[in-house]
Amino acid sequence: MATDNASTRSTEIRYRRDSAFSYTCHACNRCCHDKIIHLNPYEVARLAQNRSIGTTEFLAQYTDAAGTALNRVEDGACVFLTENGCGVHADRPLVCRIYPLGRHVTAEGEEWFSELAPHPQTEGAYGTAGTVEEYLTAQGTAPYIQAVDQYLDVLGRMATVLRALIGAGQETRSEAQRTMDDLVTGIDPEIPAWLDMDRVVREYCHAKRIAVPDDPATRMELHIHALDEWLHTHSV
Ligand code: SF4
Repeated sequence: MATDNASTRSTEIRYRRDSAFSYTCHACNRCCHDKIIHLNPYEVARLAQNRSIGTTEFLAQYTDAAGTALNRVEDGACVFLTENGCGVHADRPLVCRIYPLGRHVTAEGEEWFSELAPHPQTEGAYGTAGTVEEYLTAQGTAPYIQAVDQYLDVLGRMATVLRALIGAGQETRSEAQRTMDDLVTGIDPEIPAWLDMDRVVREYCHAKRIAVPDDPATRMELHIHALDEWLHTHSV
């Protein structure tokens, strides 16, 4: 059933957290088709835990695009879509939680939201009964937003270190190449090593003689800490 809602939505409006907005999903599941569902290592860890496997196995089995997006099946549906809806609902990634909104953060850290173009036959109902903030809270987005911001920061620091190595002369250029090789050479040649949270955290905990924590949020903190230590030792 098409709704007037879908045909009258605008992707041009900029929402803030206090903007009037509400959305009720009616489980038509059309938004789970033909979409690129991007993942960061925290989201991979949550999904891997949901599947009762480690991140190394999850990345190899369920992801595409060098470990940064969920696989889709032949009809374009997300690999986790079942006839009863999302098969990993409690641990679904951020883009699924905030749909039909997209989150944007400027280089200065200013946050805003826009609506994604809806499927023409979506059964989702848009409204103004709440605010963007209330919608984000209801969808349990806080740890996911924290994770995406922290991983974007660490990616920025990685880029800075690599740029400095590349700009520092011939000898350090080959060091930059080795650094890059270290970062990207994982167990699976398609997947960069640094993305594999379990592997990085296991090696870090082994070196520090500490126990590997179970919960993904604590492992994420150690993952980022390990990457920062590693970047520090490669800085010029
Ligand atoms: S993870 Fe769940 S909500 Fe997200 S696209 Fe896949 S099936 Fe849909």
